[in-house]
Amino acid sequence: MTDKMIKKDQFMGFLHKLKNDYNVFIPAKEDDNFYNFTALGEKETFDFDYKNTRLSPKSFALPQSEKMFEFSLNKSDKDANILREAASDSSNTAIVGIRPCDANAFKVINANFDNPEFRDPWWTKHRDSLTLIGLGCNEPDSTCFCTSAGGGPFDEKGLDILLFDLDEHILIRPITKKGGKLLETADINQEADSSLKQKADEVKAASEKKISSHVATDKLKSKNALELFNASFWDDIAFSCINCGTCTFLCPTCWCFDIQDEVNYDQGDRIRNWDSCMFPLFTLHASGHNPRPEKVQRVRQRFMHKLKYYVDKYDNGIACVGCGRCVKYCPVNIDIREVIRLMNE
Ligand code: SF4
Ligand code: SF4
Repeated sequence: MTDKMIKKDQFMGFLHKLKNDYNVFIPAKEDDNFYNFTALGEKETFDFDYKNTRLSPKSFALPQSEKMFEFSLNKSDKDANILREAASDSSNTAIVGIRPCDANAFKVINANFDNPEFRDPWWTKHRDSLTLIGLGCNEPDSTCFCTSAGGGPFDEKGLDILLFDLDEHILIRPITKKGGKLLETADINQEADSSLKQKADEVKAASEKKISSHVATDKLKSKNALELFNASFWDDIAFSCINCGTCTFLCPTCWCFDIQDEVNYDQGDRIRNWDSCMFPLFTLHASGHNPRPEKVQRVRQRFMHKLKYYVDKYDNGIACVGCGRCVKYCPVNIDIREVIRLMNE
């Protein structure tokens, strides 16, 4: 598939045309001044300079709260006490402007939710309905460390299309068949000329040089898990943590959930909700026993899962894409880059 181009002033027209066949979401500034993915309406405009959304786009495939089943407890219903799969929307959706780190995160979660042993039907149904149109990062943030986490500001992993913002033009690179199909649907067929392709290469190379945050992760795989588990630094790392869960809820690769039944009179729903390994209730057993009653155990679990257990189990790199959200928003400044350094060294 060949690179395409359009003029920047035609971009909104392209997005509105897409709405004939896709639900279109773009990053938009909300009332609190943070960017989040928003359904494209008449008033939204596309900001090519946005940094990253506060909430990650993982919720498109793993909603914060999702009804999985419905059931009736009314004995006179013919299917009383039988779970019925709840209806859910999996119509074609285009996420436009997703950053490469967040697209890479879909691949990280996918290793756990769709593998030869297990297939999560809710995740796969939503994920398959998505077309990810990435926007390369011309100006990475100071907290971005994607190049240390197996990605890069113009990395193509997980994306269907990659956009290059080149001043007056956008270079549009189809990556998958799904991406090619979307461009056909929207009649994007003008091939990019060689000077624009060269400019794209230059912007990409310049951007990679602008990543100022680097951490080594190369020794994590060979480390002994028990030695890391028993390391003395966990108390220091966990000392200031208030177990608020911000890091896990904002993280594009955190996937922990809880399933609960909610009953209203004789009708019930089985609902899956995001949960957090930072919360004491997360591991509380029905017996009252809790294998992780202390804060330090929960903090250790979060980092060991991302940086050691996942690495060993899937051989797919670390379960962190270097988006920097947890670094930016942790209220007590716990920095995963420092934890990686301690674990790696
Ligand atoms: S955001 Fe910071 S304080 Fe809150 S749970 Fe995560 S590490 Fe702890
Ligand atoms: S930098 Fe933090 S929020 Fe981003 S992927 Fe890594 S652990 Fe998750």
